[in-house]
Amino acid sequence: MKKNKYPIVWSKKNFSIKIFCSIPNIATGILVKADKAHFVVDPGDGILRDLNKELKINDILNISDVFITHGHHDHVGGVWSLLTYLRVMNKETPLVVHYPKGCLEIVHIHNAFNRVYSGNITYDIILKEIDGDRQFNSKKVTIIPFPVVHKEYLSDKKTTRQVPALGYKFIYDNIKICYGGDTAYCDDLVKHAKNSDLAILEAGHDDDTPDDMHMTLSEAKSIGKSAKEYYLVHVPE
Ligand SMILES: [Zn+2]
Repeated sequence: MKKNKYPIVWSKKNFSIKIFCSIPNIATGILVKADKAHFVVDPGDGILRDLNKELKINDILNISDVFITHGHHDHVGGVWSLLTYLRVMNKETPLVVHYPKGCLEIVHIHNAFNRVYSGNITYDIILKEIDGDRQFNSKKVTIIPFPVVHKEYLSDKKTTRQVPALGYKFIYDNIKICYGGDTAYCDDLVKHAKNSDLAILEAGHDDDTPDDMHMTLSEAKSIGKSAKEYYLVHVPE
């Protein structure tokens, strides 16, 4: 398969998504814009460089929400620098960080940040742990989180365990964008991708035999075809 050329940009009316990159084991970085609202999804390494290339400083300072699919380094590697940058640049509006219940990476990055900068943080950071699939709204966008199947190897390199992991569906002005995060083929993703205006699907498994970490190319494509449009991301380079 041809390598993705990043960034990938998609928009409909006032709703847009820009995938700066999604490279397995290296970094992910996604920006969602709904009219004047700006959300960051999975801020991996390089997110400050990409945001600064894309947005004026005031728009960066007004980012209201961060959505984390799971705690792997290629999805959260830029969280520390984003929090710190916003402090240094004097952000004043709150930042809500949504993350799956049990994602210790986010809890501990946040704890460390509070300890290091205690009393000297210019904005409120609100951690919103997501447990289940209840939908909620932010800035006129409806967000539907859904559980996905994403395992990782323990240190013996044989045993696997499920990591806290979510996909998100963003709905604005009746336009639906479904992002599965890292996931194996699973019913919740099938359900939410179907009839979406855009599905962003990982195809991180470069073998034809399905596993419970990532999707094969054919699995991802079969889900993609149920959406109006789709992009495959997180494809091994
Ligand atoms: Zn992962």
